[in-house]
Amino acid sequence: MSHLFDLTGKVAIVTGANGGIGQGIAVALANAGADIAAVARSDMSETAQLIAAAGRRFLPIQADLATTGPIARIVDETVAWAGQIDVLVNNAGIIRRADSVDFTEEDWDEVMNVNLKSAFFLTQAVAKRMFAQGQGGKIINIASMLSFQGGIRVPSYTASKSGLAGVTRLLACEWAGKGLNVNAIAPGYFATNNTQQLRDDPDRNAAILGRIPAGRWGIPSDCGGAAVFLASRAADYVHGIVLPVDGGWLSR
Ligand code: NAP
Repeated sequence: MSHLFDLTGKVAIVTGANGGIGQGIAVALANAGADIAAVARSDMSETAQLIAAAGRRFLPIQADLATTGPIARIVDETVAWAGQIDVLVNNAGIIRRADSVDFTEEDWDEVMNVNLKSAFFLTQAVAKRMFAQGQGGKIINIASMLSFQGGIRVPSYTASKSGLAGVTRLLACEWAGKGLNVNAIAPGYFATNNTQQLRDDPDRNAAILGRIPAGRWGIPSDCGGAAVFLASRAADYVHGIVLPVDGGWLSR
């Protein structure tokens, strides 16, 4: 019997995999045996090296998920390269910070388009492919603490991540009986580009750190185990959860 967490022979699309949490997840999936198709706007050579070091195949797909335009190409290129798609990780995401009284429509639309609209329509396109393959599939959305909490000065981000948690549950209800598992991971506070502004502000940095029971910011590899679990046979009966990986933040 193969190991419950073994992903050998599986093909995973990971968006936003050139750095940060997406790179950490891509490396973890590769170490569990999966080949990786990575999506981002910028150079992905660092991730390519890490996946090669794990002994797996890597396909970089340069695409801007600000619109749904590249979605069909992402699916087509992955299928042309690997013949199948078994796992999708919707990780690409952006954040805009401003007081809500000053928040612009542009900052609202940009965040919602990448974090929620493109994630939904990429999921739809990949799910159609998974249904046609008839072998099931795993969708993993990268949510946030702001899928549970309000946050401050990030209205479109909170809306997008709360929306993504809701869509995760909705898709789980629609597709659990059809062999697809749709779940989410909610990272706590991680040391990536996304949180650079917070970590640069000594007061915010101290306030956040002081509230994390684990006593440190998360690092990208911290999400890897949860992603391997949700991508694997071990999670076959897990549907619609939003799994916090937060150093205990929500328990405080
Ligand atoms: P990051 O280093 O800024 O990563 C964001 C990723 O998204 C990059 O790979 C970026 O690649 C990609 N991306 C952004 N806009 C894109 C677009 N228009 N088209 C394609 N790719 C795009 O930050 P991160 O913290 O690792 O964020 C990864 C995910 O985790 C995000 O969804 C974020 O909301 C979520 N998250 C982060 C934290 C945290 O504390 N850091 C907490 C909770 C949730 P390019 O710029 O090359 O396109």
